[in-house]
Amino acid sequence: MTLNSDHNTLLFERAKRVIPGGVNSPVRAFKAVGGIPRFVKRAHGAYFWDANEQRYIDFIGSWGPMILGHGHPAVVKAVQDAVLEGFSYGAPTEREIELAEEILRLVPSMDMVRLVSSGTEAAMSVIRLARGATGRSKFIKFEGCYHGHADALLVKAGSGLATFGNPTSAGVPPEVVQHTLVLEYNNIEQLEAAFALQGDQIACLMMEPICGNMNFVRASVPFVKRCRELCTQYGTLLVFDEVMTGFRVALGGAQSVYAKQIPGFEPDMTVMGKVIGGGMPLAAFGAKRSVMEHLAPLGAVYQAGTLSGNPVATACGLATLRQISKPGFYEDLGRKTRSLINGLTQAADGEGVAFCGDSEGGMFGFFLLAALPQNYSQVMKSNSDHFNLLFHGLLDRGVYIAPALYEAGFVSAAHTDADIAATVQAAHEVFRLLSKQ
Ligand SMILES: *Cc1c(COP(=O)(O)O)cnc(C)c1O
Repeated sequence: MTLNSDHNTLLFERAKRVIPGGVNSPVRAFKAVGGIPRFVKRAHGAYFWDANEQRYIDFIGSWGPMILGHGHPAVVKAVQDAVLEGFSYGAPTEREIELAEEILRLVPSMDMVRLVSSGTEAAMSVIRLARGATGRSKFIKFEGCYHGHADALLVKAGSGLATFGNPTSAGVPPEVVQHTLVLEYNNIEQLEAAFALQGDQIACLMMEPICGNMNFVRASVPFVKRCRELCTQYGTLLVFDEVMTGFRVALGGAQSVYAKQIPGFEPDMTVMGKVIGGGMPLAAFGAKRSVMEHLAPLGAVYQAGTLSGNPVATACGLATLRQISKPGFYEDLGRKTRSLINGLTQAADGEGVAFCGDSEGGMFGFFLLAALPQNYSQVMKSNSDHFNLLFHGLLDRGVYIAPALYEAGFVSAAHTDADIAATVQAAHEVFRLLSKQ
């Protein structure tokens, strides 16, 4: 296709005149991998079509929400019905209760939830609530974990355990991150040292239990166990940010995966988003009643939202949760996702390309490395030139994966075994090219 008739290029040029970088969320701009972002025209099932009517097998699924694939008939019907009733009222509705009840039934570590509109909002609110409930200011996050873009979370590690983080974004004053302690993921020694030093001042410890913002890095079972023990010992609230993993790796989220290996395991607070909205702006945070009762209007921690619990978004989320609650849903999704990772691994091995991958439920990740990384600095050892070649090689062959090597991928119920096989075949061709690099 010549440049003049490439509609993606034309749209990108037009977008850049009116939207910074041409996108409304930075990773969409293809800055890491180079090239022109694909502008999506429409989607169906496991596919979307770009502005040139080129079809792609979609392994992003809106970064996780589209677990049923695009345009699932039951979800579309629920949204259409909801729209006809009304868009938004700023007054409570029965559907909010139904969704809250459904979430609490599926994730029993929480007694109450509050619905909000984005993962960022949920994570930001959970920190305020943890601080309000404990009367402490400090909190722990781990390098490489993403919890949305609230000021206090845009932070990288400081120079030592006693020193708090440095902002990673312009516009965040150092004072705003002075209570954020950034530690290395999966590093038990460092964690113990940090708690020994100031555990009684730490309101909460926030983690992605399976970190999809480092592509796919699991918190080790001993690490999660130690986080739980130290939080209990010091009265610190353990927060699982399950915005990505919730209803994605299992019906009960990553916490249910860890509970199988750590008897009785529960986080104190949970942040959810992505899948619970089924593609609409919806997120939530929850905890035990004693913690949640600190929230306004019951308690002194303020939190609010004009569109929170929006009737159309809750209809979409509810319809999605009802579909994924059906027996066998995660078994089938998990099997397909594993077959993708196994297929890619075999194809890479066959061409002598260093490769490793992992998956849980409908979430996967892979690295052009010989062994799975355990933390952010190991993830960053991935060869980005090779990743970019793989990304564009797949894109040219009609397969759309995340345009950055530190992002997870997602399989939906709509992906068929044939889609998986076609993806492995496309990747095999690219691995053959890579092996000649
Ligand atoms: C996506 C994500 C967020 C932020 O959610 P938004 O809806 O994009 O604001 C927070 N935490 C995790 C783990 C995420 O994956």
